[in-house]
Amino acid sequence: MKKNELICCRLKRLPKSMLVEAARTATRINPVNHPRMDQLAGLMRGFRATPQRIAVMTTSYWGSAGVKLTVGFLDDAPADLRKRILLHMNAWNKDANIQFVPGNTDPQVRISRVGGKDGGYWSYVGTEILHIPKGKATMNLEEFTMDTLESEFHRVVRHETGHTLGFPHEHMRRALVDKIDRKKAIAYFKRMDGWSEQETIDQVLTPIEESAIRGTIADPKSIMCYQIPGSITKNGKPIVGGLDIDESDYRFTGQIYPKKAAAKKKK
Ligand SMILES: [Zn+2]
Repeated sequence: MKKNELICCRLKRLPKSMLVEAARTATRINPVNHPRMDQLAGLMRGFRATPQRIAVMTTSYWGSAGVKLTVGFLDDAPADLRKRILLHMNAWNKDANIQFVPGNTDPQVRISRVGGKDGGYWSYVGTEILHIPKGKATMNLEEFTMDTLESEFHRVVRHETGHTLGFPHEHMRRALVDKIDRKKAIAYFKRMDGWSEQETIDQVLTPIEESAIRGTIADPKSIMCYQIPGSITKNGKPIVGGLDIDESDYRFTGQIYPKKAAAKKKK
């Protein structure tokens, strides 16, 4: 990695062959993940509810009782770095019932810091991490060390943790989408993620104003905004997206994983 080159998040999704199984897991853990049939019918004319199509629409949030996940590192990350990463992961718990705790035996969240083919910054989304084989990473923070800028811990660790919590990428405003080179974007996501042209159009090239996708944070400054590498923008500059968890991120997270529900349960 070149020093001045900003690394953008690459959302990791399970292979398509695992989607149906993963959707079943998601619905078992949290029935709310299942798409509402009336919404599906309204969204797509002539919708046929095949397991594949339902799976695509299924979200991967953990249950409303809250999130408590164990975190381990796949390399010899020093103790101070582990602590610092955990601290930023737990920044999400300000208004929500979320806990990331260190775990040495079979940790649920597994962090690697590799470069190369599997490098960059990425995380699988929500309950999908349960389908990653033990010993394999669910999140990668390429070359993160104690020397990494504090602002990168905010921008990157918190963003990737958002994915682990089940948040997808938020759509961008039209002004930002217009900066993307369509052809290059379609080629890029095909190469990197195996997406069809239509998937890239739906996921990346459709501005938030026009997107029919609901249930995520409708906030262009959200930390979960798409990050677009300079190689596929018209002016060659990356689109960085939100730099930290903002108020609406916190609000939305508090609705998905409310603190009150947890308090009630304990009584
Ligand atoms: Zn991301």
